[in-house]
Amino acid sequence: MNEATKPCDHVGCGCQVPVSREYCSEACRMAAEEQNVGGACECGHAACQQRH
Ligand SMILES: [Zn+2]
Ligand SMILES: [Zn+2]
Repeated sequence: MNEATKPCDHVGCGCQVPVSREYCSEACRMAAEEQNVGGACECGHAACQQRH
């Protein structure tokens, strides 16, 4: 059975997360709450580091 995923709710983050979650990491949660959408994603996942 495949687990459904969606993009992380942090704009600028390219990670996929389970639909039951909003963000892939605490870094994304804090960045989204601070509306810090101008900088690079700091979640540390490979999918985002490749965008540097
Ligand atoms: Zn990310
Ligand atoms: Zn994320």
